[in-house]
Formats: sequence, structure tokens, C-alpha cells
Amino acid sequence: MPYPKIIRSKNKKETRIKVDPSKLNMGNTYSSAPDYYYDIEFSCYDCGKVEVWKAKQQKWWYEDAGGYFFASAVRCRVCREKQRERKRQARIDAGHEKP
Ligand SMILES: [Zn+2]
Repeated sequence: MPYPKIIRSKNKKETRIKVDPSKLNMGNTYSSAPDYYYDIEFSCYDCGKVEVWKAKQQKWWYEDAGGYFFASAVRCRVCREKQRERKRQARIDAGHEKP
């Protein structure tokens, strides 16, 4: 999968939220964590739509949801839902889950 195109938000009063490195799931890399989350723009891997991933959402994803730190948003909301539905359907097809 190509690395998503990340663009720093052009929003002038950009949001900056302090990173809490002790809560990050850094995997087995030894890179140091950045100091702050910023609102970022990315283009959807599936449809190319540009969406903003808010600093607040990143903090939640990395620190509360335990998201792997170098995993980034790659799909817009619509495509994420389609993807989730495809995975669910695959589990049903494989007999792991009831419809
Ligand atoms: Zn999309």
C-alpha cells in the first residue's frame, strides 16, 4: 500500500495537541514520537477525496484506541465504511459470523 499523501492543514488557526508518548503504541520501531498532533489533510486511498484528520481524532486513535502509531488515515469516512462492510461480508462468507 502506498503511503498516503499527508498535507498539513492550511487552516491558519491550526489545532495543536500535545502528544503523550507513554500512551503510544510505537510497535518495534525506535523512532521518537513527535511532540504535537496537527490537523492534517490526506487524500483517500480508494476515491482520492481529500479529508481532514483532526488532531483531536489522532490523539484518540493513537492514545485511547491503541492505534499503531505509524498507521495513518488512508480512507475517507465513506470508503472506511465500505471497507468495514466488505470485511464483515467476508467473515459471513467464511462462516465466521452470522448475517
Ligand atoms: Zn474515499
